[in-house]
Amino acid sequence: MSFKMEEKIISKDDLLKLCGDVIAKGHTLLAPGIAEYEQVKDVSQIRLDSSALPTKTSYKSYVFPKAEPILYYKRSKSDVQLIDVDVNGKKIVVLGAKPCDTNSINILKHLFNWDYEDEFFNLRQKHFVIIGLMCSSFDEYCFCTSVGSSPVSEEGSDLFLIPINEDKFALRIITEKGKEFIEPYSEFLKDGDEAKSNAVLESIKKPEVAFDSKQVHEWLGDNFENPKWEGIGNVCLSCAQCAFVCPVCHCFDLVDEDYSYSEGRRMKNWDGCQFGHFTLHASGHNPRDIQSKRYRQRVNHKFRYYVDKFGEILCTGCGRCSRGCPVSIDIKEIVSNCKD
Ligand code: SF4
Ligand code: SF4
Repeated sequence: MSFKMEEKIISKDDLLKLCGDVIAKGHTLLAPGIAEYEQVKDVSQIRLDSSALPTKTSYKSYVFPKAEPILYYKRSKSDVQLIDVDVNGKKIVVLGAKPCDTNSINILKHLFNWDYEDEFFNLRQKHFVIIGLMCSSFDEYCFCTSVGSSPVSEEGSDLFLIPINEDKFALRIITEKGKEFIEPYSEFLKDGDEAKSNAVLESIKKPEVAFDSKQVHEWLGDNFENPKWEGIGNVCLSCAQCAFVCPVCHCFDLVDEDYSYSEGRRMKNWDGCQFGHFTLHASGHNPRDIQSKRYRQRVNHKFRYYVDKFGEILCTGCGRCSRGCPVSIDIKEIVSNCKD
């Protein structure tokens, strides 16, 4: 049976008190800062601004760290001893997550539970509580509405905030996890008025739909050899910053690092399919030896392969990859041109 959403009202002051309690309990509280989601040490740091554009990076690294040991080993002449890593399953509360970030963990869950259940990812995501915040502005790079989301989407949030006025938020309890989290703070909650908050959501200006993702999916299937890929490949620098800022890119590499002759650790490190060596085989053969093949892979993976495998687009339309690309490659423009 699906969870029935409940609507409450919370004042800004009480929300800050709640945040203070989260910090006092020793949980990690994250909130959007200037460039990234930052750990809040003091509630005076919190700026809940629904009109802020997405931060440069998402909170992906808190559920899928940039680099982490997955085991340690000790070698002797006759044996190898494997030592497990104690995975950090500390509670993490994300306050004010953008709707283009809130669903990212749900999208990533498919991959990390596909042919192997990644206990590191699963334990961390289990301890995440996501408090989403309606988004009231967008720029030319945003396209959440083209990938099935919207600035008012509650998808992926456990709790969802809608600013009603300067001092009050409507607080929607979306999941069982959200309900469990908010229960100890019931003294801060008053009954909400869904009609009022719905009116706020309806008044929000949303980005125009830039492309039809079903048509893009079909076009990609028919245009693996289209010369358009070469044009993009000639511009792209293979720097992979687009992958590192993306909330749902998840390429990683496994590397054994020896500290000494007898000891070492196995690391799981972020990687990027735009790097030339990403698909380089030990034989020297590289199936994606030129950049046009690598960029084609990026778009196909997001808008075709992931859809075929897991039924979801591997993109939230946040526009981060385009905003930060050093040579102004704009994925929204490219995907919008995936037509004849
Ligand atoms: S698309 Fe832009 S950010 Fe991505 S690898 Fe190419 S140059 Fe770098
Ligand atoms: S591909 Fe670009 S627009 Fe899509 S989720 Fe990743 S960073 Fe955001």
